[in-house]
Amino acid sequence: MTETPQETLANLLSEDRTFPPSPEFTRSANVTESAYDEAAADRLAFWETQARRLDWTKEWDQTLDWSNPPFAKWFTGGELNVAVNCLDRHVEAGLGDRVAIHFEGEPGDTRTVTYAEMLDEVKRAANALTDLGVEAGDRVVIYMPMIPQAAVAMLACARIGAPHSVVFGGFSVDALSSRIEDAGAKVVITADGGFRKGKASALKPTVDAAAERCPSIEKVLVVRRTGEDVEWHDRDLWWHETVDTASNEHEARSFDAEHPLFILYTSGTTGRPKGILHTSGGYLTQTAYTHHAVFDLKPETDVYWCAADIGWVTGHSYVVYGPMANGATQVMYEGTPDTPHKGRIWEIVEKYGVSILYTAPTAIRTYMKWGDDIPDRFDLSSLRVLGSVGEPINPEAWMWYREHIGHDKCPVVDTWWQTETGAIMVSPLPGVTATKPGSAQRPLPGISVDVVDDEGESVPNGGGGFLTIREPWPSMLRTIWGDDQRFLDTYWSRFANMYFAGDGAKRDDDGDIWLLGRVDDVMLVSGHNISTTEVESALVSHDTVAEAAVVGATDPLTGQGIVAFVILRGATESSPEHLAELRGHVASTLGPIAKPRQVMVVSELPKTRSGKIMRRLLRDIAEDRKLGDVTTLQDSSVMARIKEGLQARSED
Ligand code: ATP
Ligand code: MG
Repeated sequence: MTETPQETLANLLSEDRTFPPSPEFTRSANVTESAYDEAAADRLAFWETQARRLDWTKEWDQTLDWSNPPFAKWFTGGELNVAVNCLDRHVEAGLGDRVAIHFEGEPGDTRTVTYAEMLDEVKRAANALTDLGVEAGDRVVIYMPMIPQAAVAMLACARIGAPHSVVFGGFSVDALSSRIEDAGAKVVITADGGFRKGKASALKPTVDAAAERCPSIEKVLVVRRTGEDVEWHDRDLWWHETVDTASNEHEARSFDAEHPLFILYTSGTTGRPKGILHTSGGYLTQTAYTHHAVFDLKPETDVYWCAADIGWVTGHSYVVYGPMANGATQVMYEGTPDTPHKGRIWEIVEKYGVSILYTAPTAIRTYMKWGDDIPDRFDLSSLRVLGSVGEPINPEAWMWYREHIGHDKCPVVDTWWQTETGAIMVSPLPGVTATKPGSAQRPLPGISVDVVDDEGESVPNGGGGFLTIREPWPSMLRTIWGDDQRFLDTYWSRFANMYFAGDGAKRDDDGDIWLLGRVDDVMLVSGHNISTTEVESALVSHDTVAEAAVVGATDPLTGQGIVAFVILRGATESSPEHLAELRGHVASTLGPIAKPRQVMVVSELPKTRSGKIMRRLLRDIAEDRKLGDVTTLQDSSVMARIKEGLQARSED
């Protein structure tokens, strides 16, 4: 444990377990150690090689134009069509009968979509959008459930060069209309609804209300999914009457490598969401390469499943663009993991023989809480690689994932990246890295990530600080839509010549990177900067704790005091002795400095739609303040329930 007074972020947790890949895995791995050397020798040449994984109709003149930092241009002068790279070229290569999507609806209906069928539908949708007056450069908002038409809609937009802005199906009228307005979208693609938690959940009424507020909306294209009654307006068109009847002949034109592909708003965990702009050639290069390298995808034999919604970046990069550029066969599931029973995820893995599974720590902790006996009932032997994304994964959850889902034979890859980075940046490579529970470990080949102190100097091994990116990367955000100044202020002003990610991190004695949560959430206790992640991981390592969120609350003695909110495993009540034991457990795991001032038992935590804990709202509770912006919460009533529960408890 380091105790220097100038420490940027304390390094408290130590973890010695490591898991090297099996020799068999390494022997057939897509990427080996030499990729790091190759990229280190010539980073731009390395990315040029990766760009050649794609079909370009015009070769680029320059790999990277960094003459006007931080506004990067990659593969300048190059031209391609993103949708052609995801579909046409596979069909032309004779792979039209390969399954692109095994769709599993929540009620149990299924649909198998081949690459040829996907291409056919995307061409029809492209023609339909063109008929509606959508031209290259026009923005289209997509507000849909997880059904194959959502991917079709995205690819149809890409095909005609109309940037899409996908809004999580289930966001409120406010969230949807502010995104429509910000993008100045002409068309919204939606559905009558989708199936969630065992019933139809309507989407169209939200779009109707948003369209009333947003004069830019000319047309609304509606997929019939649930069959429930919907109100109908002049601007509305049914997908099955418009897309299904459109021509399936469509000549795709090529676009500049820097043509905008999509706008996507960040999850809003820390504040007002930012409209992140991504472009075409560099984005597709890095998503395709990282999907190939990090998941070791063998497109002929693997069945891949990324359980993320298309409403957030993982659903863009690792459901639609990366996997489809690589010709993957994947599973898409519409509903919630506990409908109609808590084994639904594992039942789907067994049914389709899923070999690569990519999900979030919040989901993994939930499955842990539900009990080992549930996955144990299913045959999970098809799995060979497991991935995690979205938050730091606690070592305990990582071990559970490895043991109970991966049966000790699947490499677990903890992938760090952001909406802004577009693609994975820090992650083990499954055939190379000896993995460590809870660490994202190493920047991928061609990526230069650093951990720096307040002055921007690299911290030595064993030190903690800020995660930064020192060199531009192909799938980097190009700006914040319509707000270059906010782009500069948010990411490029904290340190000179470096991208500031907003996350804390440390390097262990081997130089491996551990993510420590958001810098905004770091707690300052008696002069020590303590990360939320380490304290939460210590709490989750106690047998009785399923989930934990900690925040720093103003404290007259220590500056800030650590306040922990915990969800217990199989219990809703605790005793003063048990709470004292939890506090003691943290102190003995991390040292007395990290001992929580207070532990409170809750039955739920405030989370964003993408499952991330919103600590800023808990801080409001811990400091007894009026709540901040709750519009991106999964369930906005959760805060009231947490408060009520706490009052009831503090009275007894
Ligand atoms: P906002 O920026 O609006 O607050 P957000 O940061 O939650 O929203 P995303 O882009 O979806 O929006 O999330 C990226 C963030 O998620 C990262 O900056 C990091 O904090 C966290 N994250 C993602 N993957 C990992 C990981 N493997 N380990 C640790 N943290 C991760
Ligand atoms: Mg962020």
